[in-house]
Amino acid sequence: MPQPTFIVVSNRLPVTVSKKDGKLEYHASPGGLATAMSSVEVGGEMLWIGWPGITSDELTTSEKRSITNKLRKDYGCIPIFLTKEQNLNFYEGFSNETIWPLFHYFQEIAEYNDTYWESYKEVNQLFAKTVQKYADNNSVIWIHDYHLMLLPGILRAKITTASIGFFLHIPFPSFEIFRLIPQRKELLEGLLGADLLGFHIYDYVKHFTTSVTRTLGHKAKHGLVAYGDRQVRADAFPISIDYEKFSSAVNQPEVKKEIELLDSYYGDRKLILSVDRLDYSKGITHRLEAFETFLDNNPKYHNKVVLMMVAVPSRTEVEAYKDLREKIEQTVSRINGRYASVDWVPVVYQFQNQPFDKLVALYARSDVALVTPVRDGMNLVAKEYVATKQNSTGVLILSELTGAIDELPEALVINPNDRNGVAAAIRKALSMTKKQQKSKLISMQQRIKRFNVLQWSEDFIEQLTNSKNARDAHRAKLVRSKDSEEITEQYQKAEKRLFVLDYDGTLKEFVSSPRINQARPPRSLLNTIKKLCDDPKNEVYIVSGRPRSALDSWFGDLPIWLIAEHGYWIKHNGEWHASTSTDTDSYKSLAMPIMQTYTERTPGAVLEDKSSSIVWHYRNVSSELAYARKRNLHHDLVHALKNSEANVYDGNKILEVKPVDVNKGILIESIEPETYDFIFCAGDDYTDEDMFRSIADIDYATTIKVGLGETLAKYQVKSVKDILNLLRTFGS
Ligand code: UDP
Repeated sequence: MPQPTFIVVSNRLPVTVSKKDGKLEYHASPGGLATAMSSVEVGGEMLWIGWPGITSDELTTSEKRSITNKLRKDYGCIPIFLTKEQNLNFYEGFSNETIWPLFHYFQEIAEYNDTYWESYKEVNQLFAKTVQKYADNNSVIWIHDYHLMLLPGILRAKITTASIGFFLHIPFPSFEIFRLIPQRKELLEGLLGADLLGFHIYDYVKHFTTSVTRTLGHKAKHGLVAYGDRQVRADAFPISIDYEKFSSAVNQPEVKKEIELLDSYYGDRKLILSVDRLDYSKGITHRLEAFETFLDNNPKYHNKVVLMMVAVPSRTEVEAYKDLREKIEQTVSRINGRYASVDWVPVVYQFQNQPFDKLVALYARSDVALVTPVRDGMNLVAKEYVATKQNSTGVLILSELTGAIDELPEALVINPNDRNGVAAAIRKALSMTKKQQKSKLISMQQRIKRFNVLQWSEDFIEQLTNSKNARDAHRAKLVRSKDSEEITEQYQKAEKRLFVLDYDGTLKEFVSSPRINQARPPRSLLNTIKKLCDDPKNEVYIVSGRPRSALDSWFGDLPIWLIAEHGYWIKHNGEWHASTSTDTDSYKSLAMPIMQTYTERTPGAVLEDKSSSIVWHYRNVSSELAYARKRNLHHDLVHALKNSEANVYDGNKILEVKPVDVNKGILIESIEPETYDFIFCAGDDYTDEDMFRSIADIDYATTIKVGLGETLAKYQVKSVKDILNLLRTFGS
């Protein structure tokens, strides 16, 4: 079988095209992503789709053709040509003036503009069209970053079974920040088109899943979101660097030459290095001010220390970046104005991209790396600095607001807003012994060496493949006509058959209220059950969480067993009896006042009082409120019931307090399933999993879950309609 096409999609291609004196030039793109993905290796053909960094307004048709040919032939890249206007509204606008500031907690400068949003949608569609040209249902597609958050959803609708992964290279903010964006629903739905969503750290995964639950109302557990007929996995994949490339670079002659140059220029002076794109999230002015405080507080270091600040030009057309640049340059001038002497400039500021050799030489020669972002998804510079320090010394000062802090806790950890704290950390760094420095560096190096960028991409791709396998396995459980024929054949051969059927969600679609009128079985369903009962070889149990009265009024006339309240009550031959002697009053009196208070405080919530249990329904509560109230109620109930004979169950839009020794699994065991030669057991929610588990080893038992998601059942069907169709085949 041919290898599936592997497609990487990102806003920028790893190659940037520019035009100089009418000639096209090709050079490597700057930035964390290009650096990280440059080390990725995959088995089959890899294509990279993205924007080559030049707008179509600047190119003739023949130039575009020539770029397309060269990029495909020499770099495995497919260009998408954006117009100047798209670049302005999609890239500079929605991506960098709305999402970027908001996701980095700069809500005060986030712009909400309809033209930006329209353009963002248009460009995501444009990307989708190009991807579709190269992808099919077997392709593995890895989409990168915040520019393309709608793309997974658009592609999923077109290429339904492709493996789609998405990695967010910036933080995912807490829900309180995320909710500020008017298009939050569309963005989440776009992301949920993926099979696998990668974030740098668990905090971002948690923020994402909370946002999904609170915005869209979908449940998320352990990073798994049940979304329509699919499961979407969200997980942490801390991005890293090409460790080998940085650790070995110091020995290269070109780098050694650069280090010698730095030595000859700075002599014995201590070098404090900072390297970042010129971006407000990087805390560059905070850093300068902290350095100024350090100089104020430590006159003995005057003339002995230099802050070398490399600021790589970035988004230079965006207003906030122009303002920031001005502010930085003014602050540098102020500090130098205050402290510089004839032979000492305390802050050396370079507003330019550094070639690799120079950058590594700076890492190697610097005594301290000062990394102070006020928010950073990861921060690769911190890792590169540590990797470069082979057999040498150096101290990393690192902001606690970076993703990298999780893997580099040995750094001197600072809060960038604490100017005195950063100044004190600089002083501490400059006075640390070589032994202390080495010991910290070695611990950090071991960690980032093991989890380098190759490991990162391999992990992500492996998880993406696993998600596809899980989806395939799940699809394999869906009842096909062949399975249906087999089940019918077993049915026909059997002499003593058992049917155990859950009611709500299995035989009858959920209704919005627990009141019984709405949930009454239609005539067609009663006919189907009746037809099953007509065969003397069949025994039918209807198992429900409903109270006895409801089941009596619906099925009282049929010769079947009725099980009410999840197994607490059993009725046969006209008599109801309790399956346990648990004292229900004791726990109900504890739970009831709490649940009543929550019901009163939560518009849309309904309380259902059954003889053995109390159910709090929140199907009609707005998802945000439901999220908050449910968690609090769950917590309060668990606390109140800790010494009782009842537990709290978290079901399908319900919380239920019920006895610990009652469940559908215990019930089915009491029916003695081994005395039958055909069992058909169907259910839809967590309470039914107990039944599936209890008869999992019986090979003549057909267990079926209605709906998707993980299950212990042998088969799955998508809807109530499917299970009814199956039941109708029996006896026909
Ligand atoms: N970098 C670069 N040119 C420079 C300085 C830095 O290409 O002049 C690289 C640096 O080596 C690092 C990346 O830019 O790999 C910056 O990544 P980081 O995660 O620190 O920040 P980002 O720019 O992605 O926000």
